[in-house]
Amino acid sequence: MKKRIVNFFSICVSFIFILSLFVGCSPYKELEKASKGISSYKITAVLDDEMTISATEDVVFVNNTDVILNTVCFNLYGRAFREDASVKPYTSINEAKCFPNGKSYGDMEIKSVKIGGEEAKFSIVGKDDNALEVSLEKELEPDEKVLINIEFVLRLAENAHRLGYLNESVNLGNWFPIIAVYERGEYVIEPYYSTGDPFYSQIANFEVDFTYGKDYFLSSTGNAKRIKEIGDVKQDKIKAKAVRDFAIMLTKNSKTKSKKIDELLVSYTGYEEDENIDYCLDVSVKAVKFFCKIFGDYPYKKLDVVKAPFLHGGMEYPAVVIVSDTMESELDYAKVIVHEIAHQWWYAVVGNNEIKEAWLDESLAEYSTALFFEEYKEFGVSYESLISEAFAGYTLYADIVKSIEQKLNTSMLLSVNEYAGDYEYSYMIYVKGVLMFDNVRQVIGKERLIKGFKRYYKKYKFKVATTDDFIVSVKKASGKDVEGLFDSWLQGKTIIGAF
Ligand SMILES: [Zn+2]
Repeated sequence: MKKRIVNFFSICVSFIFILSLFVGCSPYKELEKASKGISSYKITAVLDDEMTISATEDVVFVNNTDVILNTVCFNLYGRAFREDASVKPYTSINEAKCFPNGKSYGDMEIKSVKIGGEEAKFSIVGKDDNALEVSLEKELEPDEKVLINIEFVLRLAENAHRLGYLNESVNLGNWFPIIAVYERGEYVIEPYYSTGDPFYSQIANFEVDFTYGKDYFLSSTGNAKRIKEIGDVKQDKIKAKAVRDFAIMLTKNSKTKSKKIDELLVSYTGYEEDENIDYCLDVSVKAVKFFCKIFGDYPYKKLDVVKAPFLHGGMEYPAVVIVSDTMESELDYAKVIVHEIAHQWWYAVVGNNEIKEAWLDESLAEYSTALFFEEYKEFGVSYESLISEAFAGYTLYADIVKSIEQKLNTSMLLSVNEYAGDYEYSYMIYVKGVLMFDNVRQVIGKERLIKGFKRYYKKYKFKVATTDDFIVSVKKASGKDVEGLFDSWLQGKTIIGAF
């Protein structure tokens, strides 16, 4: 996600930033390989005029753990928008941005769960009734699979969030029951925190039959094919292999432009009246080419960039990203687009626990953005200026916090819900993340650092990586002992300026 790091105490500090050699991306064989032996979803969903989705979800769950399982858990992020949710996906500070047309609630209701056609035992679990636990009648051995059918109804709230509708857009992010990751003896079923992107999932294959109003234009993860158009509705079949999540964005009165890079189709969808559609498409194409070149090939054949109402700057999903319609300048659009596209490498292809190790995708995406602007000088944003703005912003933030609270948290390794709020989270994860990578670059050199990113990408493509995996990748690729350096930054021991 792209946070809005707003003016702090009226002092404007801007720091979210951050070759056009033709590069072919053709790693499709790897994608095919990754799509074997993993869980899969077949979802049939209908969005009606009341903004309610009725759906059936057939999940072939593959036990890819090394233990016998008696249950399968799914995160139900849609339930965070219900009126009685105790953990809200927005803070009181950004509530007005979230609900420009007034407060609104949604809900997600599980109607039935079947296993092999028979009614199965299930319960709603989690700290905030935020997950579905399905009991398996028969133990599931490692590598065994089970077919689970879930029937659910999702009522959308009117909001500018990842999941909701507003004006002429419908954002469907985190909209279906998604298999929770099982690790260290339990499923990870954290609530939908307002800070960060509180999600964590593994790759799976998807086939989604989606029925919606004919006036909408659909952007999504995967490749869509029209299968029916009757009266006021149309139905698309959307397929995606080896993706970490599956999102759909609908827009009315929008305009789309696309460009092919080899077999990859990059599209930008803006509002009909927009004059920056070519500019935004150009930025998107440049970002994809640049990241393919420096980090490694992009494995999917489509990437949709969609302008939509959104309370933060932007949001990433596999093969589809949102850029908020509230950006004030062309350059702001460019910064958000580049950041969200960088997440295709850091989050979508290489996954991580975004709740516990948010730096691993956000700091990387933010620093990748700085590298982009260093390369494409025509945007007039120099690398040096981004670093000095980050430094100035961080030290100002630290100074203010220390003067008010005497104590400054400097760890980059807290869970998103452990940060005191959006400010602390943004300064530790985004701003400090950029300063950290710049410092590592000063010590080992740019080439070695990028080699580290590349090695990390290659090794953990389609998998889930950890902080240690990243550090070891940089260490091995660079031949430099960077563990102490990274540890010091991540644990908050490095002194930045006077702090
Ligand atoms: Zn981000």
